[in-house]
Amino acid sequence: MLIENVENKIILNIKGVKRMFCKNCGKEIDNNAEICPLCGVRVKEAKSEAVDNPSHLAGIASCCFPIVGIILYFLWKDEKPKSAKTLCYWMIGGVVAWIVFYILCIVIGFASEAMYYY
Ligand SMILES: [Zn+2]
Repeated sequence: MLIENVENKIILNIKGVKRMFCKNCGKEIDNNAEICPLCGVRVKEAKSEAVDNPSHLAGIASCCFPIVGIILYFLWKDEKPKSAKTLCYWMIGGVVAWIVFYILCIVIGFASEAMYYY
């Protein structure tokens, strides 16, 4: 997230340069390094993975309003692939529910119209 990155930079500026060491080989490495240049082991987990918990609230929202789901899907598809995927299922479910609802309305509409003629 952009706000988090800005916050981290501010904290770093206050504290000064924070040293980081590789958890595998123990050598000091660049603070921003994601992969240790010495042994090639990943030292920093992708931040998005930790918060990538599919939200059912967002799912229900996108189920009722597919447009919300579409927007959230495009926002999340890079950062939170798991959430985006869950959202996708909710959206499909929502769209199917809406289609069924409209078909039912049309069927009921025709049925009541037919009743009217008889
Ligand atoms: Zn290393």
